[in-house]
Amino acid sequence: KQHMARGLPKQKPIAGVKQVIVVASGKGGVGKSTTAVNLALGLTANEPSKTVGILDADVYGPSIPKLMNLKGNPELTDNNLMRPLVNFGIPCMSMGFLIEEVAPIVWRGLMVMSAIEKLLRQVDWGNLDYLVIDMPPGTGDVQLSITQHIPIAGAVIVSTPQDIALLDARRGAEMFKKVNVPVLGLVQNMSVFQCPNCNHQTHIFGKDGARDLADTLGVQVLGDIPLHLSIREMSDSGKPVVVSSPDSPEAEAYRKVATAV
Ligand code: ADP
Repeated sequence: KQHMARGLPKQKPIAGVKQVIVVASGKGGVGKSTTAVNLALGLTANEPSKTVGILDADVYGPSIPKLMNLKGNPELTDNNLMRPLVNFGIPCMSMGFLIEEVAPIVWRGLMVMSAIEKLLRQVDWGNLDYLVIDMPPGTGDVQLSITQHIPIAGAVIVSTPQDIALLDARRGAEMFKKVNVPVLGLVQNMSVFQCPNCNHQTHIFGKDGARDLADTLGVQVLGDIPLHLSIREMSDSGKPVVVSSPDSPEAEAYRKVATAV
C-alpha cells in the first residue's frame, strides 16, 4: 500500500528465477536481440550446470522466435501458466508465440502493459539460474515499468560505436542508474569489419565510441563483437553463432561477454 501511495509498483521476483539480466539498447537495430540470444547461450556454454531462459519483452517487434528457431503456441499448465518453448536447451517466451506473425497489432499503452504483465507473471519457468530479458529498444514507460516490477541483477547495454547510437545508449544507462539497477557494462557491437578476401579491417561505425562512453559512465566494456556476415546469416536462419560455430572468433566474443556479466 505504501508503495502504491508513492506511485511505485511493488517489486516481486519472477517465480523460480534466481537472477534476471536485462539486455537493453537506446535504439533499435544495434544488435540487442542477437546479443541477448548469444549471451544466454554463452552462459550455458560457460557453465553447463546452470539453467538459462530467455524472455522476449520486445512486444512491438519480437525477434526471439526467429533467432531461436521456435514457433507455436505455448501449452498451459494445470495452474494456467504458459509453458516456454525450448530450443538449444533454452526455454523461451515471446509475444511472437501468442500472436500471428503477419497480423499487425496496434498496441495501445494499456495493452502493452498487460502483455508485459502476462509475460512477466504467467510463465512456468521451472527453476532458472538466469533469465535473460531482451528489452524493447529505448527508454520509455514499458522499459521503466519492467525495471520497477521485478528485481534485476544487472543490465547489459548494447551499442554500436556510432555517435547517435551512443547518445541513446547513454540515456539507457542513465535510466537504469535512476531506478538503481546496476549497469553491468556495455557491449560494443559491429565494432570492426574484417574483409573476408583481404583481411583488411574497417571500423564502419567508428572505433572506440563505446569504450569512451563506458569510461564516461564509469562502467566496463563487456566485449567487442565484430560486424560479421556469419552472425547475420546464422541469426537469420535460427542458428545463433555460439551454438552453430562455437569455435569461431565471433562465438568466442559472445562467450567473453557471458563470462564478464
Ligand atoms: P536489435 O535487437 O537491436 O533491433 P538485432 O539483434 O535484431 O538488433 O540485429 C539487427 C540486425 O543486425 C539483424 O539482422 C542481425 O542479424 C544483425 N546483426 C546484429 N549484430 C551483428 C553483427 N555483430 N554482425 C553482423 N550482423 C549483425
